[in-house]
Amino acid sequence: MPVEIRLIQQAYKFALDPTPAQARMLASHAGGARFAYNWGNAAIIAALDAREAEKAAGGKPETKVPGHFDLCKQWTAWKDAHASDPEPAEGERRTNTAWVSENFVGSYQAALRDAAKAWSDFFKSAAGKRKGRRLGRPRFKKRGKARDSFQVHGGTLRVESTGAGFRPKGADKGATRDMIVLPKIGPVFLHESGRKLRRRVEKGTARIVRGTVSRDSDGRWHIAVTAEVQREIRTGPSKRQRDGGVLGVDFGVRAIATLSDGTAIPNPRHLEGSLGRLAKAQQAVARCEPGSAGRRKAVARVGRLHARVKHLRLDGLHKATSGLVHSRAVIAVEGFDVQETVRYRKRGKADREKNRENVPGKVRADRNRALADTGIGIARWQLQSKGAWYGCQVLVMDKHAPTGRTCSACGTAKAKPVPPADELFTCEACGSQMPRRVNTARALASRARKAVPVAPSTGETLNARGGDVSPAAVRDGGQMPLKREASTRPRPG
Ligand SMILES: [Zn+2]
Repeated sequence: MPVEIRLIQQAYKFALDPTPAQARMLASHAGGARFAYNWGNAAIIAALDAREAEKAAGGKPETKVPGHFDLCKQWTAWKDAHASDPEPAEGERRTNTAWVSENFVGSYQAALRDAAKAWSDFFKSAAGKRKGRRLGRPRFKKRGKARDSFQVHGGTLRVESTGAGFRPKGADKGATRDMIVLPKIGPVFLHESGRKLRRRVEKGTARIVRGTVSRDSDGRWHIAVTAEVQREIRTGPSKRQRDGGVLGVDFGVRAIATLSDGTAIPNPRHLEGSLGRLAKAQQAVARCEPGSAGRRKAVARVGRLHARVKHLRLDGLHKATSGLVHSRAVIAVEGFDVQETVRYRKRGKADREKNRENVPGKVRADRNRALADTGIGIARWQLQSKGAWYGCQVLVMDKHAPTGRTCSACGTAKAKPVPPADELFTCEACGSQMPRRVNTARALASRARKAVPVAPSTGETLNARGGDVSPAAVRDGGQMPLKREASTRPRPG
């Protein structure tokens, strides 16, 4: 089987088990990073205001808008200038900057880089030079509102195990455990095994690029480690994948996915249960007196449940997408705009009521909440990156094609889309009837078969990767527009 070694960026996420003292250090670093971000933001805004004033005075603006390196220089100068400021008098603000040196300097630099990048992205977006939705003006990060997080660069991070002879201060001696060694903070226990990453680093097949430490809504600390990993990439399908052939996948609401072979991958049971508990917990918050201790507790409970739901959902998706890419040569998914669907829900009640004749507001709201929940965007992204690793070709079909209303048996397209409330798809042309989602999955599969004109079961290699048929050639040939999967895994946003 053809195998190629490629360098790809891969994310490893670990829950941390910090000691109480370490947890305080983590919180301090997150607070410091937020402070530095806001400091950089303010410096940029001041420079922009100065330019405006210079323009208004009729001159050419002379003030330079600071970039990342300017901000780092200014930050160091500011910190040094105020390192021995006296204690503030009654009612004055504290200006002493001695606290800055207690934390790792790189965490400030990363925050300043983020501030500079937020503004350059904003200007690019405003000038129409950036893909995606229009970005708003960068805002200040509010304490308690913004997610607690900070970054450290790869050279300062290590993954170790207690077997290597050291452990966090005050930690029990016990079984061997994996640790991440953070600058200034030292070794912090991982809540789970870090063996895979540790072994790769030891063997020299992975290099840690950066780590982002963050606190989840349930208060637990995590680290997301981005590593550059040498991976064996299969460039063609295995026998099992060839036998599996082409599969259409319709990601959905009630089930994670409906497949063109007629089966469905259900949501994990425990996820359903957690969703019910989450709804109850949210009602409890609504019943509490604002500002009360009871309300704080209820909000914390919602936070914990949210974190759990997120975890279960991701877990379910990972299992589903791994199973699919290992057993199929080609997978076709619909390329609809998840952002749009989620935003639709946020557009509010008025809009839903206006459309009540067509689809009851409740159905639509529930459907869209569940859409956001099942993380269709994440699922598609997982399929694409895993497909690229394991020799499965993932085709993202044109989102504007009428897949949902095309009969998968005879190919006749209905004039109007099938309402989401309809469970069955009934074709007026050929009389066939089947579950709506199965029909969509089958229609996707048959479009994929036309786009990849090789019968996988004959044992021929699928040749879209560097062969005669490239998706670009298909597109130029006036057929179905397709998007090719990314060969490297993008950084998780
Ligand atoms: Zn039909």
